Amino acid sequence: MPPVTDRMRAMVEIFADEATKAGFGHVAPPMFEEVGVFVRLGEATDVVKKELYSFEDKGGRMISLRPEQTASLCRMFAQRRPVTPWKAWYSGANFRYEQSQKGRFRQFDQVGAEVIGSSDPDLDTELIALAARFYARIGLTRTQLLLNSLGDPADRAVYTDALRSYLSANASGLSEQARETMQRNPLRVLDSKRESDQEVVGGAPRLAEFLSVEATAAFERVQRGLRALEIPFVIESRLVRGLDYYNRTTFEFAAPGLEAAQNAVGGGGRYDGLVADLGGPDEPGVGFALGVDRTLLACDAEGAFEAPVTAPQIWVIATTGGIEAVELADRFRLAGLRADRSDSSRSMKAQMKAANKSGAEVAVIVGPDETAQGAVSIKPLRGQGEQITVPDHASLRTVQEYLQK
Ligand code: AMP
Repeated sequence: MPPVTDRMRAMVEIFADEATKAGFGHVAPPMFEEVGVFVRLGEATDVVKKELYSFEDKGGRMISLRPEQTASLCRMFAQRRPVTPWKAWYSGANFRYEQSQKGRFRQFDQVGAEVIGSSDPDLDTELIALAARFYARIGLTRTQLLLNSLGDPADRAVYTDALRSYLSANASGLSEQARETMQRNPLRVLDSKRESDQEVVGGAPRLAEFLSVEATAAFERVQRGLRALEIPFVIESRLVRGLDYYNRTTFEFAAPGLEAAQNAVGGGGRYDGLVADLGGPDEPGVGFALGVDRTLLACDAEGAFEAPVTAPQIWVIATTGGIEAVELADRFRLAGLRADRSDSSRSMKAQMKAANKSGAEVAVIVGPDETAQGAVSIKPLRGQGEQITVPDHASLRTVQEYLQK
């Protein structure tokens, strides 16, 4: 409800503006897909293993509510084959069966942008710049950009083996949950927030030492790009992110004002194998998603991004029993102003009360005297200023002049 929804909408509009300026077209992925679209995101990820809202529809198909929108974009790309590089942005709700808590909801909104069909690392830089510009425009100043490279699948396979061996050798120091994750997906142990796990993780081999020459060159190119655009970043070698399909560049924006476990306000990276995995052509991809709800919490922590003003500027009051209030409000709206009115059958006193409560700057009043003269009265509701009566045809101009003061 307002004012939260007003802020969310304003945020999405700013994102839309930045994405459009950067050459992204708007797409609207469906709220649900056949479960297979999401299952291919990776059997070992939490999002797929535990968090999908899945059900059988009346036609006997297994359906899942979308837990994110990248998979749908890849599916759309595979079916429609748009011209590459395909640059698309989206916004809207996602659903994950999570332990809900502050900053973690079962329904949450994201805005995101993806590019399919190019492995140019400068696109990674441009996407990060788009997210950074968005945060800057909404007034967040303390977000931190964490950057890593996950290398190519071959690098990652060698690394995963090395990591699994290391973690097995040190399993006694790990939490039970980490020991379980270690078998399924050792990379995920790296971003465990538990203190005991952190100690073991601190001594783990680093992915950076396993990167191929090509992956290293791409990573360096992204860093050079970010420096050229003066976007500060921190290399975080333990940043692996939740979804399995990432390779090469991976990044996250952290808001220090939020609790550590839920301080990621957005993140993304490259997913060069995903489109092919979803049955499409072998085209690389890169993108990110930003959590709108959580970004709002970060704004609250920084005292940033106030709700846009939506209160009416003008409140119309008519006590003649005629249709004047509706006509006047319509005239002001047509001129681009925010105008509202109260129920014309109510007393002058009750309508004035509503006007004062509305937050409007002026009341436009039509009573029997005004009707007799073909006039309206204009009464400032805030600050100084006298009530004046002007001919009906001058009402719009007079109100506009008043509002400009
Ligand atoms: P992900 O799709 O998991 O990479 O998440 C991208 C961003 O979406 C995160 O950085 C969060 O800001 C946001 N997000 C993810 N899951 C949730 C959730 N359950 N509740 C609120 N925000 C979320």
